[in-house]
Amino acid sequence: MLNGIAASRGIGIGSVCVIGETDLSYDKNKAKGVTEEKARFQKAVRDFKEETMAMAEDVRKRIGAKEAEILEGHLVMISDPSMAGEMEKMMETGQCAEAAVEAVCDMFIGMFSKMDDDMMRQRASDIGDIKVSLLKLLLGIEDVDIRHVAPGTVLVAKDLTPSMTSQIVKENVVGILTEVGGKTSHSAILARSLEIPAVLSVPNITELVKNKDTAIVDGTEGVVYINPEGDTLSAYIRKREDFIRKQSELQGFLGKETVTADGERVELFCNIGTPKDAAKAVECDGEGIGLFRTEFLFMDRSHMPTEEEQFAAYKQAVTTMGTRAVIIRTLDIGGDKDIPYLEMKKEENPFLGYRAVRYCLGNPESYRIQLRAILRASAFGKIKIMVPLVTCVEELRSVKRMVEEQKRALEKEGVAFDKEIEVGCMMETPAASLIADLLAKEADFFSIGTNDLTQYTMSVDRGNADVAYLYSTFQPSVLRSIKNIIEEGRKAGIPVGMCGEAAADPMMIPLLIAFGLTEFSVNPVLVLSARCTISKWSVKEARELAERVMALTTEEEIAALLKREMRE
Ligand code: PEP
Ligand code: MG
Repeated sequence: MLNGIAASRGIGIGSVCVIGETDLSYDKNKAKGVTEEKARFQKAVRDFKEETMAMAEDVRKRIGAKEAEILEGHLVMISDPSMAGEMEKMMETGQCAEAAVEAVCDMFIGMFSKMDDDMMRQRASDIGDIKVSLLKLLLGIEDVDIRHVAPGTVLVAKDLTPSMTSQIVKENVVGILTEVGGKTSHSAILARSLEIPAVLSVPNITELVKNKDTAIVDGTEGVVYINPEGDTLSAYIRKREDFIRKQSELQGFLGKETVTADGERVELFCNIGTPKDAAKAVECDGEGIGLFRTEFLFMDRSHMPTEEEQFAAYKQAVTTMGTRAVIIRTLDIGGDKDIPYLEMKKEENPFLGYRAVRYCLGNPESYRIQLRAILRASAFGKIKIMVPLVTCVEELRSVKRMVEEQKRALEKEGVAFDKEIEVGCMMETPAASLIADLLAKEADFFSIGTNDLTQYTMSVDRGNADVAYLYSTFQPSVLRSIKNIIEEGRKAGIPVGMCGEAAADPMMIPLLIAFGLTEFSVNPVLVLSARCTISKWSVKEARELAERVMALTTEEEIAALLKREMRE
């Protein structure tokens, strides 16, 4: 048995086809002259754009518009003058086009891959994909054709790039295995859209298998079997049937209210990173947006987005959601999320440093622009403002003061906005949890960010594999903190939601129901499974389980009990 990251749910059983690595070596000293190298480069970029556009069109027809946007994202990146400009500058110093492409892409890859955020690391992988495509075009290498693999194939590759994934024909591919990539990598997103089970980041998988081996891909648990024994195979055939039955059951939750087994209504929102994702949230039946991570609007560009650009983005999200709420988190950068043009200082302890609300309050000129853009967009629907990484009441007060200032300014200018706009706190630090009673008096709502709350409560870097064994929301300390935040919010009569990954975890959901969480915000693809799990617990049953859980001492005992009692 091999383990990897469970990236696309389901069970696939089939025959292995290994997609080998292409030799992209070239002679670094072969530059023919600046003009010629630039011309070769520009032709490669033109061909790349043409091929990518054709692929995006094909994906749009076969898979869907959202998936085509992944490839269109590559077009935007390659069209960014700062990227191509840097490459051309290198050619002007006598480098060949290949070396310029490689060096500039590697520079961007190095920058993005250091970031802790999955979506940012995805940028690194996108640029890696662009690099390989451009090098192949410059070197005249033909791409592997995945379109024609036999039915019942499990594709195995070091990395399945979006351009490769977009050629997959759903009827032929039953599973995907790779050596790199995470849950939010674009290959994972495409695999999920195609509903093909995928396990990513399986160490050395390309060397451990050969063509025609039989593979079981358990994309739900992140488990892989190569040439399994008869018993394992029959157990997985049954599991596959169960999974298919369960999936069709989940479709029954489409369009339904989110209620517990005893009829208690809760809200089920979605987390998004771009305004376009709002359409995905609607498609997946999300009841609102519980977290719009605005930092993505600030990345992949060479300067701050203007007020107009931000306004257009927020307006697009809120109009897509119609009457449903959209909680916009103000800029959460710094720490792991670097934005080169902001020229932030290197820090000894970035997670404890100048990030999120601290950075925004220290740079009021740019924060004002964001607040103005959000306020203007609030005239078009139900927007709420959320402040990340709050640790003391003064931070919340300062933000609220700035919001009031911007409201007055807009009023003077006769610009419309929602006068009653709510301002809430992300609860993601132990400090915020310990003063939840004080914050609850001044915040309009709370949203628990378990990704950071776990990191800071356990003093464990969320991206450090060596201490990952401590990074669990089922640690008694983290659970007590979550319970406290919800209780204090309830006492003060303000709504409490959760937008960290834990909100979608079927093991965590009964505890959240028991503690009194009223809003769950999850990845759009998890809306139906979360709604299903919520429907399986009555408040009374959830409370009984929570009582048993909170009486336990270790994470291991808690996780084991919750796994035994899990309902999906
Ligand atoms: C969190 O910390 O739980 C959260 C939702 O925010 P992010 O993952 O963007 O830090
Ligand atoms: Mg956070």
